[in-house]
Amino acid sequence: MKNRLKSLSPQFKKILKISSQIAHDSGHKIYLVGGVVRDLLLGRQVFDLDIAVEGDAIFFVERLAKHLGENFKRHHSFGTATLYHHGHKIDFATSREEKYSQAGALPKVKAAELKKDLWRRDFTINAMAISLNRQDYGGLIDFYGGRADLEKGLIRVLHPESFLDDSLRVLRAVRFEQRFSFKIENKTDSLMSQAIGAGALGWVNPHRLRDELILLLSEPSPYRYIKRFYSLERFNFIDKSLSLNKKDFRFFIRVQSMVNFYNQKLKRREIKVWVIYLAGILINLPSKDISQITAKFGFKKGERIIISSIKEGLKEVGKLNKKMKPSQIHKIMDKYSYEAVLFFYAYFPQALLRKNLRLFLNELSFLKLETAGRDLKKLGVESSSLMGQILRELLYLKLDQGLRTKREELRAVKKILKIK
Ligand code: ATP
Repeated sequence: MKNRLKSLSPQFKKILKISSQIAHDSGHKIYLVGGVVRDLLLGRQVFDLDIAVEGDAIFFVERLAKHLGENFKRHHSFGTATLYHHGHKIDFATSREEKYSQAGALPKVKAAELKKDLWRRDFTINAMAISLNRQDYGGLIDFYGGRADLEKGLIRVLHPESFLDDSLRVLRAVRFEQRFSFKIENKTDSLMSQAIGAGALGWVNPHRLRDELILLLSEPSPYRYIKRFYSLERFNFIDKSLSLNKKDFRFFIRVQSMVNFYNQKLKRREIKVWVIYLAGILINLPSKDISQITAKFGFKKGERIIISSIKEGLKEVGKLNKKMKPSQIHKIMDKYSYEAVLFFYAYFPQALLRKNLRLFLNELSFLKLETAGRDLKKLGVESSSLMGQILRELLYLKLDQGLRTKREELRAVKKILKIK
């Protein structure tokens, strides 16, 4: 039997061997499952592992963690835990079946054998397993034709109710279709359209939709994903009146090159690229609706602020399309996050405006004063609000007059304070 685990890192291989031994001793059956198996068959790199345990996963992880001298985190959801070992993440779950009493409702979950655990999954290509058990270690388990679909490049649901049970799978289908350049199989495609037509995406918990949307917008080159999803569902699940035009799609393409530029040349911090795309999807809606949507889907406060600041900022930033002093540009742009600045750069076509934004991004936003509060204190400035005012004024002087050294800065401070 072919060992499918050969391409894993030596660290992962070692952990799996130990897991296998412990499973043998404790009488558990364990399997690598889901996307990891798909990625191994595709020859893609694997970063995290998902292991299904026939039996009590928590009991199993306790024994494994003790053996490895590691801690593990037990989760709220049914029989699941995560273990970290030398920077490797491994998720364990008790293998289970899910029964949906009503479309879109949360399923009833109970422990079950592997075959049922694989049946509850989204697509055949994600419903395979690799045995980690001594007798058939490394062997592929493929009850539902996942391997054939992987070879044909097909996304196929396991049963006709799949999208109605959990319509989040619509977003997932698009994600895998675009990521692997696969095709959504014909029957699956029509089931998906029916579910969309029935408004099934409206039945899903908004927080789950949010997480899946973030994943979609975090793929490399999300432009294709957005275009494809828009052709299917138009982001109706976010807002029925949402609409995107040619200009918006050109914007998504430009975001891509802006983000590449930022990552290669500037990168002051990690940015949330998906926030820029989401802001682009929402931008034609009224501000009030945008705030309601981002609250409803439970985006984090910081993310909501960035998105609102972009919508609110369009007017003000639009005024940058003229010759301006660096300090004036700084005054307007300094309050915006990098995500917002990149958004504006991709959004506005006017040459002068873009030149000003480039100046801000490449130079002005990095400029820092050498002078600090304690230097002002030595010159007799006590009040902190006055200090703030002077430092701001000094920064603007530095931006416009190009003060280079601390000495030049202090000379300018003395001028401001009218001391000789
Ligand atoms: P990625 O490569 O993006 O991480 P993945 O396939 O590993 O994709 P996960 O979201 O990590 O996706 O989920 C792991 C596995 O859990 C999937 O491969 C699939 O078998 C199953 N799964 C996840 N979400 C769903 C869902 N909504 N419905 C059914 N099965 C799901």
